[in-house]
Order: sequence, then structure tokens, then C-alpha cells
Amino acid sequence: MATIRSIDPTTGAELAAFEEDTDEVVEQKLYAAAAAVDALEAAGWDLRADWMRATADLLDSETEQVAAMITAEMGKPLAQAKAEVAKSAYAMRFYADKARDFLTGAELADPSVVSASGARTEFDPLGVVLAVMPWNFPIWQVVRFAAPALMAGNVGILKHASNVPQSALYLGELFTRGGFPEGAFSTLLIGSRRVEAVIRDPRVAAVTLTGSEGAGRSIAATAGDVLKKAVLELGGSDPFIVMPSAKLDDAVEIAVKARTSNNGQACINAKRFIVHTDIYDEFAEKFAARMAALTIGDPVEAGTEIGPLATESGRRDIEELVDDARDKGADILTGGGRPADTEGWFYQPTVIAGITDQMRLFAEEAFGPVASLYRVDSLEAALEIANDSDFGLGSAFWSTDQAEIDQAVRRIEAGAVFVNGMTISYPELPFGGIKHSGYGRELSAEGIREFCNLKTVWVA
Ligand code: NAP
Repeated sequence: MATIRSIDPTTGAELAAFEEDTDEVVEQKLYAAAAAVDALEAAGWDLRADWMRATADLLDSETEQVAAMITAEMGKPLAQAKAEVAKSAYAMRFYADKARDFLTGAELADPSVVSASGARTEFDPLGVVLAVMPWNFPIWQVVRFAAPALMAGNVGILKHASNVPQSALYLGELFTRGGFPEGAFSTLLIGSRRVEAVIRDPRVAAVTLTGSEGAGRSIAATAGDVLKKAVLELGGSDPFIVMPSAKLDDAVEIAVKARTSNNGQACINAKRFIVHTDIYDEFAEKFAARMAALTIGDPVEAGTEIGPLATESGRRDIEELVDDARDKGADILTGGGRPADTEGWFYQPTVIAGITDQMRLFAEEAFGPVASLYRVDSLEAALEIANDSDFGLGSAFWSTDQAEIDQAVRRIEAGAVFVNGMTISYPELPFGGIKHSGYGRELSAEGIREFCNLKTVWVA
């Protein structure tokens, strides 16, 4: 079996190494998962909610340790890791409180129209759901699946990204420590080539993936072959449109945050900044200056705003994208390389203008702190560039003109439009994309219903 390594991206040093689960161990975990299905459903809403709240309390009480682990494994600034833990605990409590309401079916008001004495809907859990998850929010991405799934009565099996095995193992224990039955949520320590067999296993009912387009194609193909439900949360190249009436300084401030939070490695980071020509020069100057002024350094240090990229290959991908644009004539307004005096996988916050459709940055996702700038002379041109992408995850639109806002909300092809703000996920709001950003939704009532059977009950 291969070795799964936890490597500190700030230094490149190995933190820990784990052997992959053998086939026998995977079999034991699948057996335990299938055996937990009845127990979890039989527990009922109140007990599941008690366990979920106890799990949230546990996570809260371990914030310091968990945040340090996140930062050590993938390099986000420690304050952001703590915020990730707090948000995860909040989502657990949200679903502990709301799951029953979200999954209460409805009685048909007049059943005689369907020749029944009564007709109603119910939501049943599907059973064991496999979650294939990324490293960028190693706790949050998993919890945003697990909290609704477990509250609905589903069992979860996690296959986490191979560079965050410590987070994977922590999560594999967390829910049982909170009181959930053995097997209700567990971690498989396996590489991605072994995912297909797990999806095909008859004990697994459905699969959810948060990850890249490539992983999405592969998982969707397998799930399609065995006709199992799949939810896909994939990449994004979110537009951030700024019109002349926008509050420019606010837009610049939020643009920097929207591009660089999580060291620029979030699916919903704004990646393409599309700015009206009337304010383009001022925006570009202020944006580049603010990006250049960000503090790069050890993510454990309190003042650090940008830590390293999570993997060496991730930095190589970003370097290749920027070098391709530079070679083809783009203007690097700031950044464009590795910062001096750093050992780990750092990359400078970068702003690039003069992007053409011949450059890879035009079409591909930049998973690092690299912003592409586009100058447009009308709302029409802005929307055209925004929609000229295979992706359709989030988006931001800055304007104070209501007619423009209405048009943008209607015409932007994305799973979300944030007006005069930046795309953020909230447990209260549905989250997901269209086009190559995936399908299905997480969070809110829509998220918890994805892995339920909406059952129609008709009584003569
Ligand atoms: P990734 O390489 O696709 O990995 C994500 C997960 O999928 C990992 O657990 C990985 O396992 C597994 N995987 C990769 N290829 C697979 C395959 N062919 N079959 C089965 N499993 C496979 O993505 P990443 O680099 O970790 O994450 C970055 C990507 O995720 C970006 O595109 C980002 O936009 C996207 N993302 C989307 C959302 C969203 O909500 N839409 C949120 C966060 C991130 P291994 O690590 O073992 O390869």
C-alpha cells in the first residue's frame, strides 16, 4: 500500500506519514458503515441532534489544536483556520436545529384530486454516502456534507485529499466521539485510484465530490455507470464585475479579500476582475497596490495575510499559468513570481492585465493568489466576458444602479450572484454551481435534501 504524507507547505518538511488502508480495512469500514444505517435512522431527530451538538462542542473545545493542524497541513493563515473551525461548529448546530423542519414532508391539501383519502411526501435517507473531499478547507468542506447527511439519517464515509491525512483521521473519529454510533462516519485512508471501487460497492448509495473538474468527470462517469446519485462541487473562475457607480474603495478592499482569502485557493475566490473603462485605471492602480502590500509569511504568525500554496504541484500550476500569460504579452502589474527569502511553496499576490483568449488564464482556474484584470466599455461587454467561461460557480457584481443590478442578477451564469460583496458560503444559503462547476447543491434545505428519497405516500 502507498504512503500518505502530511507535509508542511511553509517549510516542505514531512510532518507525518501513514500507510493507506488495506483492502481488508476498507472492507471492515464499509461493513461498519452499512451496519450503522439502521441504528442512525432509528435514533430519530432528537438523539441525532444531541450527538451533533455534542460534536460541535467537542470541535469548539479543540479549536486551537485543530486550527494548528489545518495550518500545518495546508498553510492557511492561523486566524482563517480558526474561523474555519468556528464555522464548521456553527453549521453542525444549524443542522441540529433545522434538519427536522427541512425534512418534514407536506400533506396534500385536497387528496381527493388524486383519488386518495390522504396523500403526502416524506424524506427518507439514502444510506451510505461516500464523500470525496479537497484539502483547501479540510474541516469545513467535510462538515458541510457531514452535518446535513448525518442529521438526515445517512451514514458518511470520507475519502479526503491525500495531502491532509491528519485532518482526515481527526474527522474519522470526531462524530463517534460526539456520540454517533460506530460506523456512522468514518475515514478511508486511500488514494484516488481506489475511489471507483468504493462507488461501485453495493453498500454505497451515493457519492459527493468537492474537487477539480477532472475528478468530477471521473466520479460522475463511475456513478453514472452504476446509476447512483452524485453531487459535484467543482472548480470556478468567478467574475467580479465593477461598474462606474460602484463605491470604488470598497470594491477594491473586497476584491483583494475575494482573491486572496485562503491563500487564493478557494473555489469561490473571485478570479477574473472585469472593470468598466471609466474607473479601470483607478481600480487597477489601487488593487495592484493593495495586493502588493499584503504580508506574505509564516501562516502561524499573527500578521500574515498570505501563506504558502498547499502543494508544490499547485505552485507549479500557478507558475505555468502566469508564465504562459507573460510569454504571450500580458502585463504583470504586481507579483508574478516567488517571493524572495522563503523556503516553502509561496507565490506572490499577482495582478495581470491584458489577458487575451489565447492565454490559458482566460479559460483555466487560477488556484492561487493571481488576479486577471479585464477592461470593458459597457455592461453588455462585462456580462459577455463573465459568461465566456466553462465555469459557473459564484460571482460578484458591484454597482449602485438598480437597473444594472437587475440585469446582472438575471444574466450572470452562475450558482450565486453577490451584489456589492463577495461570494461566501453560509449554512443558510444554497451553494453550488452550473456548467463545469458541477451540479447539485449543498447547505440550506436544498443541501440536506440531495441525499434523501423524496417519497410520495398515497392512501386509498
Ligand atoms: P482534486 O485533485 O480534484 O482532489 C479533490 C479530491 O478528489 C481529493 O480527495 C482527491 O484525492 C480526489 N480525486 C482526484 N482525482 C480523482 C479521481 N480521478 N477519482 C476519484 N477521486 C479523485 O482537487 P484539489 O486540487 O484537491 O482541490 C482543488 C479543486 O477543488 C479546485 O478546482 C477547486 O475549485 C475545487 N473546489 C471546489 C469547491 C466547490 O464547492 N465547488 C470547493 C473547494 C474546492 P487525492 O488527493 O488522493 O488525489
